[in-house]
Amino acid sequence: MVRDLWKDADAPKKEGIGSLVYGSRLLGSDEDLVLWGGGNTSLKTEEKDHAGRPLRVLRVKGSGGDLKDLGLDGYPCVKPDELLPIRDRKAMTDEEMVAYVGRCLLDPKARRPSIETLLHAFLPDRAIFHSHADAILCLTNNADAPRHVAAALGDDFVLVPYRRPGFALSKLVGEARAKAPKAIGAVLVNHGLFTWGDTVKDAYRRHIKAVRTAEKYVAARARKQPFGAVKAGPAEAERIAAATALAPALRGLLATPSRMILRYDDSPEALAFAGGANARALSRIGPATPDHLLHTKRLPCLVEASNPLDTEKTVRETERALASWSRSYDRWVRRWNDEGHPVDDLKPRVLLVRGLGMWTAGRDPRQARVKGDIYSHTMGIIGNTAGLGGFRSLSPREQFRAEYWELELYKRTLLPPEKELARRVAVITGAARGIGLGIADRFLAEGACVVLHDLDGERLELAADDLSRRHGPGRTLAVPGDVTSEKDMAALFASACLAFGGVDIVVGNAGIAPGGAVENLERDDWEKALAVNATGCFLVAREGMRILRQQGTGGAFVFVGSKNVPAPGKEFGAYSAAKAAQTQLARVLSLEAAPLGVRVNVLQPDAVFEGSALWSPELRAKRAKAQGIRADQVEDFYRRRSLLGLQVRPRDVAEAALFLASDRSSRTTGTVFPVDAGLKEAFPR
Ligand code: ZN
Repeated sequence: MVRDLWKDADAPKKEGIGSLVYGSRLLGSDEDLVLWGGGNTSLKTEEKDHAGRPLRVLRVKGSGGDLKDLGLDGYPCVKPDELLPIRDRKAMTDEEMVAYVGRCLLDPKARRPSIETLLHAFLPDRAIFHSHADAILCLTNNADAPRHVAAALGDDFVLVPYRRPGFALSKLVGEARAKAPKAIGAVLVNHGLFTWGDTVKDAYRRHIKAVRTAEKYVAARARKQPFGAVKAGPAEAERIAAATALAPALRGLLATPSRMILRYDDSPEALAFAGGANARALSRIGPATPDHLLHTKRLPCLVEASNPLDTEKTVRETERALASWSRSYDRWVRRWNDEGHPVDDLKPRVLLVRGLGMWTAGRDPRQARVKGDIYSHTMGIIGNTAGLGGFRSLSPREQFRAEYWELELYKRTLLPPEKELARRVAVITGAARGIGLGIADRFLAEGACVVLHDLDGERLELAADDLSRRHGPGRTLAVPGDVTSEKDMAALFASACLAFGGVDIVVGNAGIAPGGAVENLERDDWEKALAVNATGCFLVAREGMRILRQQGTGGAFVFVGSKNVPAPGKEFGAYSAAKAAQTQLARVLSLEAAPLGVRVNVLQPDAVFEGSALWSPELRAKRAKAQGIRADQVEDFYRRRSLLGLQVRPRDVAEAALFLASDRSSRTTGTVFPVDAGLKEAFPR
């Protein structure tokens, strides 16, 4: 149930833009009312223009903004007196409308006002609230909308038939309002709710009250098992394991024309919908409101997994379901595409798999979540209309006009260009500090999702928190563990597949560096060096290759090796031998991986001290002894011995790792890449 959150004590004392921001945030805070940028609000008030003259203005939500966190600047100011005269026009194209509204802005540099600005302007009321509330969509998205709307809300609300937002709809709502002077709002079929009032508080409270009334009406008619009888799927642990095993194949199948980040949802609702006897029919009707279509596309793809625990079989069934979905989508586009929109993306954004739940696909985790949230609400609306005669959507033609709406397509062209590692997932071992952390930081800055691994769980958590703070939430995952454990390595890659759908880049970086002359070296130290530096890398490589093969979209391995391989130093045998094994492993892997379009390269850094756990006080002392210097001279010694006389920092190694992980090095595999400030004895031969 939505709740009335208005508190006079918290609201600004004086009615104005402050109250609009306050009320809009309340409306935007409830997902059953407003989802991800949906809805809009406005207030007609008086403000001063640039010359200090008082002026009647319409403050209306800016296009693309999210009500839950918009501030003052999220509500551009337009001059309503200049908008009103066009109400008498017969028609106006979207382009004409946008151009006209743009001319009525008080500040020409303000953000573009909502596409529904004219609708707000044509209503005489001061405060207006609009949402695509779930319960209202239940009342309208069925065969008997007029009866249900009237029975639920009485005659306080006018009912407006479906029209795509724009000039015609604005005019229609304005005319309906004029004919019903006592109305306090309008219900728009297949679209949502408008309420109005003299104050922001009135418009907000009327909105909440109407939605609550609709919720009660819908709840009283709720059906048990609204999606039909649900066939019991696998139990939770088996389901998660099956979803994890399936995810990379799904990600591969959805990767044209571009790679996607996947989000998995096995909530009870997703399982009930995907597993319901009526899933096939219900998933083929359409979206709840045009606003959703832009995110989820017209329909989800349903996979009739006959045995969801059999991954290979489910992959084949998914291939068939996707092929059939693409054919039908293509037919639908051809049927309605009179304006010749280019269509190169024939893949769904929502995938339902019987017994396992739902995956949604987006360009980043946030977009995958937006699509997931929207389809979750769509499933709820579909379920709740079962008791109102069954779910109805827009007509196929209107569905097309909403998905291929010029104004929304235009918005996409305004998005900033994608970063170099956008849509990619990187697994990085030894990521709690030093080189690994530097690589994670650089990859995140380039748009990647990163899965960080380290033995030091506490430090890893701190590193992940710091990275999330700096690069934004949702793209960093910390999975502590031991690279020498097969179980931990399998768990690391499983986490990546469950969180993001798969892996594209694998950075084998975890390492330890015991020092000591061969004749004094403890067997235990030798074995530990091999276990972490060589076996650890082997296990990372093996698990990574299995995922990349299943995904089938290429990829890159970057191993952090050492300058000690081409140019060993004395009393460093265990470390150098283990790093040599790692390097040779990478070369062999590059032969095996090339047919899959997977590249394997090795970085050879030298003496990276910053943030390093490798350079413990003991190692410094041992290396100082081996080089015949004092321990406090070690850093300077390594710097001076390089050709450039520079210290090598984690960010220098990270820059090289970025190059080898990115498509810029698409013609480079099986090679080593020094990052050592120049050492002639380490020149690759
Ligand atoms: Zn709307």
